[in-house]
Amino acid sequence: MKILRTQTLRGPNYWSIRRDKLIVMRLDLEDLAEKPSNEIPGFYEGLIDVLPSLVEHYCSPGYRGGFFERVRTGTYMGHIIEHIALELQELAGTPVGFGRTRATSTPGVYNVVFEYVEEQAGRYAGRAAVRLCQSIVDTGTYPQEELAQDLADLRDLCNNASLGPSTETIVKEAQARNIPWLLLSARAMVQLGYGVHQKRIQATLSSFSGILAVELACDKEGTKTILKDGGIPVPRGTVIQYLDELSAAIEEVGGFPIVIKPLDGNHGRGISIDIKNQQEAEEAYDLASAASKTRSVIVERYYKGSDHRILVINGKVAAVAERIPAHVVGDGRSTVEELIEITNQDPNRGEGHANVLTKITIDKTALNVLGKQGYELTSILPQGAIAYLRATANLSTGGIAVDRTDEIHPENVWIAQRVAKLIGLDIAGIDVVTDDIRKPLKEVDGVIVEVNAAPGFRMHVAPSRGLPRNIAAPVIDMLFPPGTPSRVPILAITGTNGKTTTSRLISHICRQTGKVVGFTTTDGVYIDDYLVEKGDNTGPYSASMILKDPTVEIAVLETARGGILRSGLAFNQCDVGVVLNVAADHLGIGDIDTIEQMAKVKSVVAEVVSAEGYAVLNADDPLTASMAEKVKGRVAYFSMSPDNPIIHDHIRRGGMAAIYENGYLSILEGEWTLRIEEAVNIPVTMQGMAPFMIANALAACLATFVQGIDIELIRQGVRTFKPSVAQTPGRMNLFDLGHHHALIDYAHNPAGYEAVGGFVGNWSGEKVGVVGGPGDRRDDDLILLGKLSAQMFDRIIVKEDNDTRGRRRGEVADLILRGISQENASLRPEVILDETEALEKALSTVSEGGLVVIFPESVTQAIDLIEKHRPLTDNQG
Ligand code: ATP
Ligand code: ATP
Ligand code: MG
Ligand code: MG
Repeated sequence: MKILRTQTLRGPNYWSIRRDKLIVMRLDLEDLAEKPSNEIPGFYEGLIDVLPSLVEHYCSPGYRGGFFERVRTGTYMGHIIEHIALELQELAGTPVGFGRTRATSTPGVYNVVFEYVEEQAGRYAGRAAVRLCQSIVDTGTYPQEELAQDLADLRDLCNNASLGPSTETIVKEAQARNIPWLLLSARAMVQLGYGVHQKRIQATLSSFSGILAVELACDKEGTKTILKDGGIPVPRGTVIQYLDELSAAIEEVGGFPIVIKPLDGNHGRGISIDIKNQQEAEEAYDLASAASKTRSVIVERYYKGSDHRILVINGKVAAVAERIPAHVVGDGRSTVEELIEITNQDPNRGEGHANVLTKITIDKTALNVLGKQGYELTSILPQGAIAYLRATANLSTGGIAVDRTDEIHPENVWIAQRVAKLIGLDIAGIDVVTDDIRKPLKEVDGVIVEVNAAPGFRMHVAPSRGLPRNIAAPVIDMLFPPGTPSRVPILAITGTNGKTTTSRLISHICRQTGKVVGFTTTDGVYIDDYLVEKGDNTGPYSASMILKDPTVEIAVLETARGGILRSGLAFNQCDVGVVLNVAADHLGIGDIDTIEQMAKVKSVVAEVVSAEGYAVLNADDPLTASMAEKVKGRVAYFSMSPDNPIIHDHIRRGGMAAIYENGYLSILEGEWTLRIEEAVNIPVTMQGMAPFMIANALAACLATFVQGIDIELIRQGVRTFKPSVAQTPGRMNLFDLGHHHALIDYAHNPAGYEAVGGFVGNWSGEKVGVVGGPGDRRDDDLILLGKLSAQMFDRIIVKEDNDTRGRRRGEVADLILRGISQENASLRPEVILDETEALEKALSTVSEGGLVVIFPESVTQAIDLIEKHRPLTDNQG
């Protein structure tokens, strides 16, 4: 077996709309292609032995053990690998369920599709599944150590890739409210919402966390001073920079016991608490001074009590937790060291911040703290006795948290909320030392020792004891108060032909509303009139560029087949999904071999239309019209004919449509006909002479109408959108060259040629075609292009693209010639492979009043050349 290609899909895709995180592995089964599992001796037994948990896979039989049943009676290796790839991820702690395996048109080659939670882990699982299967085929088994290593690697990949625990809780809450999110590529920042409505978070810092507040919170002395000025109880203390200031400082805070800590520390580094004598104080001083960048050390009075964290979000206390330092509880038999080991076996304890709790590490600090309590690692702790391994309660050093949200005294709530306001933080973690959070701080001599920006959430979301608190909810409430939008309207456009033209026209109409429109096309990414990035930008990367832009108010996204197949859509729902048509083009590429399969690719856009949105479908194209069945939202149709039966039926049921009637582009809404404009007044239709452009314009009008854009603005839009070199380069650009006309069009498949033919047929003078075709199309497609050209033109010059896309030079031309002679043997086509030369020739030989049509490889070159032929007085186009 050989993996030919692995693709990672990250959005709604050909295989599934809802399961949008999929690995697609193109797998050549090689010698196993002809061998179902029942014909491989020992395979069934070997698999059961290696992965007994596969018994939970129901598979097509639909009952427990169903998949094993299939393996026993005979199924193909691709299918087995799919199940194993899923199971390996499951065993590594990331539950997944969706899988599909389909044959391709190449014998023995399959697409194995399976879900993932973390990309890298998913890809790894695919490779491991192949390895595992091959091993069982070859040796009857797969070594246990190998499997254990695979699972360990998978777990590592997941842990490294996943969002931090705090970020994850916020993202989950957003997801639950259907607020879209995306991970930005820098600083682990997460964007919530799209375009102009977006907010950002980074761990638990938010777009609303002011720099002044965050810096103040990071400055412990500054914080204390501000709080003290506000009458908030804070530890008595002072800052020193030299050891010889220590004694005076101790005196100033009222003598021992004291606390010494670095001025600019965090995570408990360099802190010593409950210091009882001078010698300890000096050691603590050195420790703190070393941990401080500025060699500044805080000396504070020691306050008895336990550590509490009060979390204030958007001015309100959201949760309270009591934190207890890392400790073990004796059982009368085990040593401290053994107890630590047992404690660390808790699956909730991981490394660093990755898990709910962190493992306890045995280090110098731990030994020190133990020593102060009179214990060593080898001491056997009496039943129920507690040995602390840390003096401070940080979760990251093995501490635990107990929820106290329901117990805090109202006065302390009031104080905490005031503290957050005094510091100015939207999300503040307030550290309080008190014996009893149920009593007012003043009463029990409790103090606020610190205010944290970006406080960790895990102690509240997953406390060791007490109720977990949904503290992500108030964060999201703050970022997106109920009723405020998080999305911008997304209008996605797909189809075989006319996507760019229609996307541009839709953008132009949307612009009439005065809103900022971001749009992507095969020419580039645009925001309003400005080109952001040039190039073929019809995939998810470009779409995200628009959705990430903080100025964009409406997104119009040309969504091509390539991107959908390569990685899926960049968005999981859209407001308007336009499907223009499905015609034969790009067949045979990316395992899409039939037009029906192509229709399934394009229908992804219709299927992601939200329940409140509209799919705008071409009623004249059966493959497109039938996508309506899968649409979750509403459907609106467009048609060139008022007599189209689908339109009739749809209108009768109160649906919405756009049609071409009596020379007008009109909207039908129930029994009413709203005329938008006469085709002759819509420049893009070329005086109504280009029928396919009328169809594109109908789609654009309908898409913007269902999006709620005023019909007056739609009219204004279609009137002012010109098929000019500037607005739609390469799409039906007609040049008046005085003696004759020239038309540049980017048609590159049979349907495109036919469309242009619809216009050319209306021309009365001589018609000269300069034709070629992209080399990556099938032979038959190129022959067909030749035939269509022969129907359209009086005279033909055959040229080739510079980029032959893998074919021998002259091969494409030969195929086109073959098509021409099959259609009309009396035509005497000329062959000039160089595009520029061919066009030159056509322009210099066309008769008066004639039309030269070029389907260029490079639109800009062709335009430049034609511009040179333009009489100086003329400046239209
Ligand atoms: P973290 O990053 O966990 O917030 P830190 O390095 O910022 O830690 P502090 O929050 O100042 O340090 O102190 C850590 C812990 O030490 C406090 O939560 C508290 O338990 C204890 N502590 C600090 N100062 C005092 C004090 N004056 N009296 C009693 N305990 C104190
Ligand atoms: P691409 O796949 O290259 O991105 P596209 O779908 O964006 O193409 P356009 O760039 O708008 O399509 O148009 C390309 C050509 O396709 C046009 O110049 C025209 O020849 C043809 N075409 C445009 N609209 C239609 C249509 N509705 N039906 C058939 N052909 C069309
Ligand atoms: Mg602290
Ligand atoms: Mg395009």
